[in-house]
Amino acid sequence: GLKKKEARILVLGLNNSGKSTLLNQLKRDDSKLPNDVVPTVGFNVEKFKNQNVGFTAFDMSGQGRYRELWEHYYKECEGIIFVIDSSDRLRLAVVKDELDLLLQHPDVTSRCIPILFLANKKDLRDGMSSIKIASSLHLERIQDKPWHICTTNALSGEGLHEGIQWLIQQLY
Ligand code: GDP
Repeated sequence: GLKKKEARILVLGLNNSGKSTLLNQLKRDDSKLPNDVVPTVGFNVEKFKNQNVGFTAFDMSGQGRYRELWEHYYKECEGIIFVIDSSDRLRLAVVKDELDLLLQHPDVTSRCIPILFLANKKDLRDGMSSIKIASSLHLERIQDKPWHICTTNALSGEGLHEGIQWLIQQLY
């Protein structure tokens, strides 16, 4: 049945939001795998599989020339993890622009794929709350896809498990 099929999850976010750290944390749960993910730079794709779930990460750092390459993955993913650095107030507008482009993309608009938003770096004191981030990004506008936001500390793994659990539940 469905369980045998591999689910493909795209991990998106600006550079420095914590994608590599997050993937390393997920890898830690799976001792069979080697334990280092190199940071995402440009179009270095990061990939690994955890049981039946394959994760692929990209930087969305305004690099127009790579955009089409990562957008190519939209149509074959079953879920999206959108990582936000909650301490990076300066680039929240850039995050919103990237989210707008994502939600408007034909391969995303037409499909009911779950989106997990991670307000990462919750350990930093000056971080924005998930409520503040959700309202700044206008997440309430997403009516045709299941979505969820939680705060995480990718360094310690705090909050990550709940988020991933939510996403997995949406898939199966
Ligand atoms: P990427 O560019 O999105 O892959 O981001 P990285 O995973 O390379 O993380 C960027 C920087 O943020 C690194 O120095 C990480 O150690 C740090 N970082 C990632 N997650 C957290 C977190 O939850 N809290 C804190 N304090 N630092 C984090």
